[in-house]
Amino acid sequence: MYYSIKKRLLLGVFCILLAALVPAGVYAMYLLRGEVSRDARDVAMNTLRGVEWTLAHHPPFGSPKDLDAWAAGYGAATGVRVSYIVNGTLVADTQVGYERLALAADHSLRPEIVAARKNGRGLDTRFSTTVNMRFLYAALSTGSIPGFAPGVLRIAMPDLAIARRLDRVGFDLALAFAGAFVLGCFLLGIMLLRGFRYLDALTVTAQAIGLGDYARRMPDSRCRELRPFTAALNGMAVNIGKQMREIAEEKNRLETVLNAMSEGVLALSGDGRVLLGNPAARTMFSGMEEGRLLLEVIMNAALHEAVSAALSGEAVPGTVRVAARGGGTCSANIVPLPPGGVAKLLLVFTDISERERLDAMRRDFVANVSHELRTPLTSIRGYAELLRDDANLPEATRAEFLDIITRSAEHMARMTDSLLSLARAEHAGARAAPDRGEASGPTDAAAVLRSVLRDLGPAVRDRAVAVSLDLPAAAAGPEAPLFVRGGADGLAEVFRNLLDNALKYGGNRIELGARAEGDTAVITVRDNGPGIPEESRERIFERFYRLKRGPEGKSAAGSAGLGLAICRHIVRNLGGSIRVGIPADGGPGTAFVVRLPLAGGDAGSLSARRFDSAPALA
Ligand code: ADP
Repeated sequence: MYYSIKKRLLLGVFCILLAALVPAGVYAMYLLRGEVSRDARDVAMNTLRGVEWTLAHHPPFGSPKDLDAWAAGYGAATGVRVSYIVNGTLVADTQVGYERLALAADHSLRPEIVAARKNGRGLDTRFSTTVNMRFLYAALSTGSIPGFAPGVLRIAMPDLAIARRLDRVGFDLALAFAGAFVLGCFLLGIMLLRGFRYLDALTVTAQAIGLGDYARRMPDSRCRELRPFTAALNGMAVNIGKQMREIAEEKNRLETVLNAMSEGVLALSGDGRVLLGNPAARTMFSGMEEGRLLLEVIMNAALHEAVSAALSGEAVPGTVRVAARGGGTCSANIVPLPPGGVAKLLLVFTDISERERLDAMRRDFVANVSHELRTPLTSIRGYAELLRDDANLPEATRAEFLDIITRSAEHMARMTDSLLSLARAEHAGARAAPDRGEASGPTDAAAVLRSVLRDLGPAVRDRAVAVSLDLPAAAAGPEAPLFVRGGADGLAEVFRNLLDNALKYGGNRIELGARAEGDTAVITVRDNGPGIPEESRERIFERFYRLKRGPEGKSAAGSAGLGLAICRHIVRNLGGSIRVGIPADGGPGTAFVVRLPLAGGDAGSLSARRFDSAPALA
């Protein structure tokens, strides 16, 4: 049950004022009443003495009747009743006619008469049944009325004036006290309400601070007792505000770090629920919502076991391999957090997809290279042993064996050359600054194409292939240059590989073309061979990828599957692209299209992506 201090205090003030003013008022009335009656008694006694003096100096009355008549006259003139009593018997009286005096009651026992006879004077106030009114009686023992025996002279004055005066003064006094009471209540009420207003403001301020308005301050109170409280409240708001700012800054810093991290970070509660996940973690795993169980987000038994072990305080297991979204792989590191916080564990996920891919690539590469080298090596060793062990071999066989050894050695040499070229091209790509002079230049691509064709002239003739060359025409001479960015060596290697492939795998016709399209040089190498199946068109640019042809599915002899990989690396390093497809005119064969930025263009903005479209291909 709650109560209101405000109401209690107001009621208290009301009661205190009442308790202070009512007794004071009653006492004041009591004093006033005493004062007024004393005044009235003095007036009555003085009047009586005046009457006595008047009677003492009056010429002697002829008879008691004359005295009674004088009393009646005096009463009529002054309103004061005069009586003369001798031994309790009325001798004269203002209000009793002379004839009826004898019938009047004995007055000897009236209090004022008794007192006057005893002390010379007496006073009394009482209700007179004779005239039906309250009277103040004053009596004086006297013997100075000429012609009359000593007796008691008495006057009676109506008490009405005194009562009226007392009533009036009492009313005024009550009015004054009521005014004082109302004013007191009003002033104290105002003071209390002002105090309460301040308390209300304190409450509102404390609530606002509690709701996060840390800039809110309470103005200083003029009440000394409240000042420490106000100062404490304001100080509390300052401290909380400062701490909240620090916490927010800390949170921001943490968020920035977490957002910038390439590792996925996940905070787990004691019951294995997700409390927080950074953007990297959200990219790695779908459905990462706060409050979800880790098992619902990452369904991995090994991780679940490791997390359960870590949460139950057992030794933290090492990293756990976890499958990520999109076929990637992550390694999860479990870090227990210090006790006391809501978060108990931190899981740090590192994307190891690329590392694993590179590892696999390296393994494949080593296996491929070993495999590719083993065949020529085996034949070199085999034929060399035969030559060594059998000195009687016929000359023709010996020459044939030596020929095989030479071809195998050449194949190995070609392969190691290709591997070196590939390594150089990859290295240049990785360094972003093209090596092998690719960035230098400009180089006339048309001239390089002509020179490569010249170099391969014997092979062209051997295979009886018809080669056509379509180069930009110049106004002054038969051919115009087609300057592209990059060094001649890289370009020559690309063109040589493409032409070599066209000679090796194509038919009996090769069309070479070079032209400018906007700020791009487009070089095409087209043959009329069997073509490349659509599903292999992207893969032929991978290292060691070779097309299996024929019923046995054999790849071409002497083919290492490295040429096109080298081409793509070099072209990309130059900011260009290489695509393969069927010829645009729908004819048979294969068409390779190389797109390179023309020298003098905005080379910096060129990227492989802008050359993805290949209109020369169908
Ligand atoms: P290699 O050095 O063995 O020639 P490449 O990387 O140059 O390897 O070529 C990869 C494969 O692409 C080859 O095995 C071949 O089957 C196929 N290929 C390349 N060029 C052509 C072409 N013009 N016509 C048909 N197939 C081709």
